[in-house]
Amino acid sequence: MTETTLSIIKPDATKRNLTGRIIAHFEEHGLQVAAMKMTQLSRREAEGFYAEHKARPFFGELVDFMCSGPVVLMALKGEGAVMKNRELMGATNPAEAAEGTIRKLYARSIGENSVHGSDSAESARRELSYFFPATDLY
Ligand code: GDP
Repeated sequence: MTETTLSIIKPDATKRNLTGRIIAHFEEHGLQVAAMKMTQLSRREAEGFYAEHKARPFFGELVDFMCSGPVVLMALKGEGAVMKNRELMGATNPAEAAEGTIRKLYARSIGENSVHGSDSAESARRELSYFFPATDLY
């Protein structure tokens, strides 16, 4: 089934000039960019986006990090895109990520882990609508 999911290239990656390599990785593995926007998130936007993590001890650090530089917001489309994107990203902690995954290749730590990806079809719908009007998806 063709799906669309939200991907974010995080500030640690945009700052290290990894944007192009990460997008190429998705494209080479069957995901297509269906919307894309570079922006610097406000605290309010980052807090709203990660609202489900509000009670976690790292919430403040996560919001600080996500606002620390530009991010690239993307809608990625393809067969089973939600789980495919999660597989391509690898585990949250790069030390545990499988060989060849984006986080294994590029992430610096469990916090500065280069990419975000929606973790379910329901999250994808919510997260895509947080950043993109449906009419902006190709
Ligand atoms: P994901 O779905 O793989 O991104 O992981 P989670 O939903 O569990 O966490 C969301 C994001 O919070 C992660 O991608 C990290 O950027 C950050 N995060 C998770 N665990 C930690 C932690 O222990 N410390 C810090 N600083 N950030 C964390």
